[in-house]
Amino acid sequence: MGKTIGIDLGTTNSCVCFIDGDERVVIPNSEGARTTPSVVALTENGQRLVGHLAKRQGETNAENTVYAVKRLIGRRFEEEDVKRVIESSPFKVVGSPKGDAWVHLRGKDYSPSEVSSFILRELKGQAEDYLGEEVTDVVITVPAYFNDAQRQATKDAGRIAGLNVLRIVNEPTAAALAYGLGMADTSGQHRVAVYDLGGGTFDVSILELADGVFSVLSTSGDTFLGGEDFDYRIIDMLADQFNEEHGVDLRENKMALQRLKEEAERAKCELSSREDTSISLPFIHADATGPKHLEASITRDQYEEMITDLVERTMTPCQKALEDAGLAKSEIDVVLLVGGMTRTPMVRREVSAFFEKEPDTSVNPDEVVAMGAAVQSSIVRGELTDVLLLDVTPLTLGIETAGGVFTPLIPRNTTIPCSYMETFTTARDNQQMVRVHVLQGERQMVAGNKSLAKFEMHGIPPAPRGVPEIQVTFNIDENGIVSVSAKDIGTGIEQTVRVVADGGLSENEIERMVEEAAAHEEQDALQAQVAEKRNQAMGLLYSTERSINDYGHMLPPQEREEMAQDVATINELLEGATVDELTTIISSLESTAYRIAEIMYASMSDQPQGGEPAPEE
Ligand code: ADP
Ligand code: MG
Repeated sequence: MGKTIGIDLGTTNSCVCFIDGDERVVIPNSEGARTTPSVVALTENGQRLVGHLAKRQGETNAENTVYAVKRLIGRRFEEEDVKRVIESSPFKVVGSPKGDAWVHLRGKDYSPSEVSSFILRELKGQAEDYLGEEVTDVVITVPAYFNDAQRQATKDAGRIAGLNVLRIVNEPTAAALAYGLGMADTSGQHRVAVYDLGGGTFDVSILELADGVFSVLSTSGDTFLGGEDFDYRIIDMLADQFNEEHGVDLRENKMALQRLKEEAERAKCELSSREDTSISLPFIHADATGPKHLEASITRDQYEEMITDLVERTMTPCQKALEDAGLAKSEIDVVLLVGGMTRTPMVRREVSAFFEKEPDTSVNPDEVVAMGAAVQSSIVRGELTDVLLLDVTPLTLGIETAGGVFTPLIPRNTTIPCSYMETFTTARDNQQMVRVHVLQGERQMVAGNKSLAKFEMHGIPPAPRGVPEIQVTFNIDENGIVSVSAKDIGTGIEQTVRVVADGGLSENEIERMVEEAAAHEEQDALQAQVAEKRNQAMGLLYSTERSINDYGHMLPPQEREEMAQDVATINELLEGATVDELTTIISSLESTAYRIAEIMYASMSDQPQGGEPAPEE
């Protein structure tokens, strides 16, 4: 049986981990980094870039570089949060025919699931390179606050990437799982608060660990609060200063904004370990009077003043999570910090002030979620049997009733998997159809909640109103994904309708994307092969040119002339050569190189040189 991996598909960074015996191993990417930026780009010549490569060229290809696609996954185009993404992103967000938020890159629309699949495919590849075998089984984490559509869309992303998604797990749950198993003593009861402040989302969960059983007591959070907001505080400060001095708003220039962003993030991270940082962005703008540079410095005190309200904002969900769990601060035994932003000293201070205890920082905040996902994959496969994970549904599930009222059926924080049955009847005589509208959310009116599915139960035999009994079952599986089925039992005739809410993509669309991904993989492999051959040929070309220069005088003039001619021709042929052509070029260059070597060594043995004798083979 192949290995399974755990993936933390983060807003900003993603991480992949697997379990090797008793060890949790974080798989580094090709650059040796343990996390990979969740950035995807399409280059001018149609090449797809993921991770550091994509991030690095973001400045010069801003419109086709997608950051934080997780903020769009499973969302509708008209949502308020999507509007904020549109305002702050250099890439274009469009509405799909079904009204979902998609991105537009180089003349084509992509669903966020598809963009996420590019990231997942990259991580899958990293794992396969590392393990030397094919990997398909995976556990992927999502923010605890993700609704059904977002979870489903994440699962779709896995499928498009050619992965078999064993389970979708909440990030804080995964963190606590990794943490809990790391504890020497898992007996007794521990109550843990997981405070996760990442690049784009904030989650807080209260969990209980008792004798190897994990259960989530409550979750809360803000799907639109994270490191990026902190970056913007610095960006705004710098841009305002520059504007005052030069009368130019750098935020209006996409390239300048991109540079500002990178520099702001760097400064922010530096302020976690230093008291001050200096900013230098040469040539950030140019006008008739010449180039303009941005130079500034920020102290940690200044920075903390700018971000106080952001840090404060995380405390409201903390309070709510405690209330939902029915616990006082003093009843929390451990506070866990997760997410890169929790390295910020002010965040640590405020969290410990709020919970009235020092947070535990023994786990690596960037990796612990992926580790938990890997642990969960072992549990799902039955490799780890002494742990049982119980999770809760983060949002209330209910239906629409008369007057647009949302009637809750499964309250939030109910342990999953769970199901709920409700019997419906008709409101009119001879009514042949019952319509059920399923939603998720905390608002009292339908309008404020997320619509999951609408379905109609047809063919109810004529009967006076109130007589038919339509039994509707709402089911939430262990991934937090909702399905609804209905059965007409009133007349003895059974009929079952099953509606599964989707993540915005139809089955056909997913299949098409899976096929495209597979096709793209072939194309990628071919491109990689061409690039490798071309590099090999260029290396040979370079050394052959040098040999001709250095030793050409030893060759008969006619032969030397021909060789130089060949090399020049090859130089021109290289660009645009196919794999086969490159292979021919390489062998031709090799024979030229051998010919020169032959002449060279022959001449050397004619005139023995001084110095060290060559070692015997
Ligand atoms: P996500 O889960 O959203 O992908 P991460 O947990 O990887 O996010 O956190 C990324 C955020 O953490 C980014 O905003 C990044 O700038 C920030 N970050 C990383 N290292 C530090 C640091 N040393 N100090 C402050 N912030 C940091
Ligand atoms: Mg994270």
